[in-house]
Amino acid sequence: MFRNFMMGRYGNDHLNMALMIASLACGLLSMMFAGITDLIFALLQFVFLCFWLLRAFSRNIQKRQKENMSFLRVWSKVKKSFSGVSGFFNRLKDREHRYFKCPSCRSRLRVPKGRGNIMITCPKCKTKFDKKS
Ligand SMILES: [Zn+2]
Repeated sequence: MFRNFMMGRYGNDHLNMALMIASLACGLLSMMFAGITDLIFALLQFVFLCFWLLRAFSRNIQKRQKENMSFLRVWSKVKKSFSGVSGFFNRLKDREHRYFKCPSCRSRLRVPKGRGNIMITCPKCKTKFDKKS
């Protein structure tokens, strides 16, 4: 009976998983807050849940797949910016090297620390510049 009902329906994909998680998270958050904040999260939970239902039981599979694709594109960008942030912290922790930006092509260069003034040659554009390391 349920299987018949789900026939030709879209079902779950990455975007729906994300909607589900977002809805659950909003439900949890609304429990932690009171007053207007609680109301906002409860509303958000409802909105996410509605989207989830609409997408899961949709018959317009092509459109849903397109939505999922654009969601995955945005998601990979979000992941990339997060790895950019963690890369920044890794460079902060790195005490063995210094990081410079090439003055002409802006690519990042890593040089060993504590060698006084050194001449750096950019591996990309072969620009030479002096830096104190
Ligand atoms: Zn360069």
